[in-house]
Amino acid sequence: MKIVIVGTGYVGLVSAACFAELGHEVIGVDIDAEKVRKLKQGISPMYEPGLEELIRSGLKTKRLSFTTDLIPVLPHVKILFSAVATPPDDGYKADLKAVFTVAETVGKYINHDLIFVNKSTVPVGTGAECEKRIAALLKKRGVSCHVPVVSNPEFLREGMAVTDTLMPDRIIIGINGKAISDKRQATSIMEDLYRPITRVGKPLIFMSRESAEIVKYASNAFLATKISFINMLTELTEKTGGNIRDVAKGIGLDNRIGPKFLHAGIGYGGSCFPKDVKALMATSREYNVPLPIIEATDAVNHHQRHRFIELIKKALPKKSHIAVWGLAFKPKTDDMREAPSIDIVTALAKEGHTITTFDPVAMDRAKPLLPKKVSYSTSPLAAAKNADAVLLLTEWDVFRGVDLKDLKEVMRGKKLFDGRNVYEPEEVKGAGLEYHGIGI
Ligand code: NAD
Repeated sequence: MKIVIVGTGYVGLVSAACFAELGHEVIGVDIDAEKVRKLKQGISPMYEPGLEELIRSGLKTKRLSFTTDLIPVLPHVKILFSAVATPPDDGYKADLKAVFTVAETVGKYINHDLIFVNKSTVPVGTGAECEKRIAALLKKRGVSCHVPVVSNPEFLREGMAVTDTLMPDRIIIGINGKAISDKRQATSIMEDLYRPITRVGKPLIFMSRESAEIVKYASNAFLATKISFINMLTELTEKTGGNIRDVAKGIGLDNRIGPKFLHAGIGYGGSCFPKDVKALMATSREYNVPLPIIEATDAVNHHQRHRFIELIKKALPKKSHIAVWGLAFKPKTDDMREAPSIDIVTALAKEGHTITTFDPVAMDRAKPLLPKKVSYSTSPLAAAKNADAVLLLTEWDVFRGVDLKDLKEVMRGKKLFDGRNVYEPEEVKGAGLEYHGIGI
């Protein structure tokens, strides 16, 4: 099937490369000319395991191509995915400018039936609004073709994006369609498109467009709530002599709860959880429907990050030398959007501390977001040289493997702040270091 994917970011590019791998003919469109230039050469603009290989293979088989210009592509496709960004606006509502730009381009230029698939994370009702805008433009031009808008939210995890796209837990499709024939046609096209994945037993689930739009926010908010729930308990375990890791294990082994997303730490970051939780809060205000658990999830996450900053401020004299291990919001990605490291490093630099950082892949992206006086190192131990304290902010494997005795040797001080509860306190103490975990 010939498809166009508009927006070649973390979601659009991975989808494009994977659809090409699955045998479809895919054109990726992006307004960022530099990104498209690199993509045409087979260079991935972001770090994502396995992605560059897929891009190169797609270019080689000619099933994958890239352009900056959507309009000339439109006559050749019957399905368009919009995967543009939906960042938070000033009031934390999702900014839908890019989504509406794509919808309006379709409305202005399309002359044949097309399925418009929204892959971006968008508030409930956005699909209906896109459909309305497209229909109004078609009417104005006197063109009578059908452009149903389908919701197909994305659930990939950065760092695992290729695997998640090829082997998803589920594919959610939201279709309304005023005319029954539109609905039937859209359903059958989506079934054909995803057949290579449903063939290996992955479920394709149809529902209303509104339900599909809500599923995406509900999934992210639920996962964020699990994180905030365990983080909420860390102050209690600290004050009472409990250990949050034992508590998490104790509750996570209950099948009804499960162990995932119960790792206490400095809280969630990234391009999705913070923005989607806040966007859901904005939707709750818009519809005047209270969502108190979601409000609390956001508040706990904010509190947790600032509690960590306060802990370090109290523990270290001014003008200390701090090594920061890990900058990306999570391992296996160079994505710095809403990474806790930004607030933490900025607050500590403001206190007058000297900061040297190391991250395996995110340092280039981090530089414009961190204070200028922060320096960047070539390895965990090089960053820790002469440091009074080491802060672990992202649980990359490379930090798990550091020999703690070697770390003690290169440091000037002894404090290890484990923002992700990666190390065994006894092992750290055994190496002659002081251990400061979260909720331990
Ligand atoms: P991104 O910022 O990495 O990519 C968006 C791309 O769209 C950019 O390359 C940008 O240049 C391009 N773009 C913007 N306006 C355009 C236009 N008018 N025409 C063509 N291209 C345009 O964003 P992302 O992380 O891929 O996220 C995209 C959407 O998917 C968001 O709604 C996000 O919430 C959602 N999502 C993201 C993830 C994730 O892990 N990143 C996971 C699931 C869902």
